[in-house]
Amino acid sequence: MKRGVLIVLSGPSGVGKGTVRKALFEEPDIDFQYSISMTTRQPRTGEVDGEDYFFVTREQFEDAIKHNEVLEYAQYVGNYYGTPKAYIEKTLAAGKDVLLEIDVQGALQVKEKMPEGAYIFLTPPNLRSLKTRLIGRGTENLDVINRRVQTAASEIRMMKNYDYAVVNDEVAAAVDRIKDIIKIERLRVERVLPEYISMIEEFEKL
Ligand code: 5GP
Repeated sequence: MKRGVLIVLSGPSGVGKGTVRKALFEEPDIDFQYSISMTTRQPRTGEVDGEDYFFVTREQFEDAIKHNEVLEYAQYVGNYYGTPKAYIEKTLAAGKDVLLEIDVQGALQVKEKMPEGAYIFLTPPNLRSLKTRLIGRGTENLDVINRRVQTAASEIRMMKNYDYAVVNDEVAAAVDRIKDIIKIERLRVERVLPEYISMIEEFEKL
């Protein structure tokens, strides 16, 4: 069976990865799955366990690392964030495409292990708009926001490790660009070749 495509949506914190990802999954024609991350941070108002994240304790998270159950993980502003491994493996093996929405540290770890994925870097139009966005969200204090903006500045340099850059100037436009990328990714020769090879081999035997 043809393996699913791993799509990694990443980029600096506060760029709007979460907002873009949610908007993407609200589209009527989405035919890929979302990998729900684990985190030790507290749920924000309105966030649902098992939907937005699997909210776990530090002990549970460290246990998952120890048992090799996470594909990647990162510590971010004092909390762990990570991708459960089993779900990704199972879904890709079943031929379904999976999207991860993770930070830059995590995306680079995944790329080492799964270079065949499609790596999309979501970038802010500029750093000032990133800070304004974080302040507007009102979920962190200024000290945390400043740390996030500084991290973002150095993370933008990591864009060179990705396949695609999508500017998040407007959510709907970013969503459209990501959908186009996914359509194109599915057409890559290395993804469709195995199917054709087995077909060719069948005919060569005649
Ligand atoms: P937030 O606390 O705002 O939900 O997320 C903070 C950062 O962690 C964001 O950049 C988000 O994309 C990232 N993140 C969410 N899930 C994961 C994950 O599973 N692994 C990694 N490495 N980062 C994640």
